[in-house]
Amino acid sequence: MSERAEGAAASGATMRVYHLIRPGELRLETAEVPVPADGEVLARVAVALTCGTDLKTLERGHARLKVPGRFGHEWAGRVEAVGAGVLSFQAGDRIVATPTAPCGDCAYCLRGAENLCLHLFEHMALGAYGEYILVPRHIVNRNAFRIPDDVPDVRAAFLEPLACVVHGADLVRLAGDRTVVFVGDGPVALMFVQVARLRGADRVGVVGRHAQRLEVARDLGADLVIDGRENDVREAVAALTDGLGADTVVECVGRSEVWEQAVALARRGGEVLFFGGCETGSAVRLDTDRVHYDELTLRGGFHYTPDSVRRAWELICSGALKLEPLVSDRVRLDELPGAFERMRRLEALKVAIVP
Ligand SMILES: [Zn+2]
Ligand SMILES: [Zn+2]
Repeated sequence: MSERAEGAAASGATMRVYHLIRPGELRLETAEVPVPADGEVLARVAVALTCGTDLKTLERGHARLKVPGRFGHEWAGRVEAVGAGVLSFQAGDRIVATPTAPCGDCAYCLRGAENLCLHLFEHMALGAYGEYILVPRHIVNRNAFRIPDDVPDVRAAFLEPLACVVHGADLVRLAGDRTVVFVGDGPVALMFVQVARLRGADRVGVVGRHAQRLEVARDLGADLVIDGRENDVREAVAALTDGLGADTVVECVGRSEVWEQAVALARRGGEVLFFGGCETGSAVRLDTDRVHYDELTLRGGFHYTPDSVRRAWELICSGALKLEPLVSDRVRLDELPGAFERMRRLEALKVAIVP
């Protein structure tokens, strides 16, 4: 136990925090407020954001997350106490951190692929749907930031999803005389549209299924929005591209049928980024003619690296992105189940949870 731990971090204090017991079962439990050990930071959560990944995890579990366990990974807050040896933060600082950081010396970290680190999911900062969250030492050291006064908590809390988008944007060509099509109209696609614009994409399209979200996509910089319920999406993309198809297609949904659709929208020689994670065990059918004779580049994109986290943080602080329109609701901690229900019914984009 740290000598500097005080206040709520003193042993014996309790807090409320959601646990995901099993898919479908979320429980608000009372737990002891953790006391930060050496190198750790304890933060009081000021705001947490719901995330599509959390909704999927709640519905069907997750390939990488431990269930049962604490839940919620997008947040911003204030440092309550720090463990011994923490020099970068002190009690009272506003803080944001990602839920993971790479170990720095596994086979993948040594190859520079820190997003694929073998130990990424072993010691996470989870429990953003709660009153306090403990940030482990390796995350404090690499993926945590002090929030400047002019950056609101809600904006700062976009760090993790935006870092994923920045990493994904590094994997494809966006700049110049290209048509880039995002399949999906959720928060990830709405961030991607803006990042593509900033990186100089000439034409940006969004394929979705919700008029209201497509309207937001247009406001945030999409030239063309296609409602997949009313249109033949392939024809619509062809019409936009002299019959060729999109140069770059980014799948932002995470369903196997949408992965297949994404492949169908790419032009000859085009590239497809599969950004949305599908249910464990799912598979897709590939038209081998398209991959071979049309020379498609198909690739996955996952997670983030400390470098993409740092660049996402700079983007957040610069104010270059409109992130607030992606938060549709604001509720109390005990209203979390209802927030997920609204997301499931596609009535909410992201929900801000204020403990
Ligand atoms: Zn997330
Ligand atoms: Zn590693």
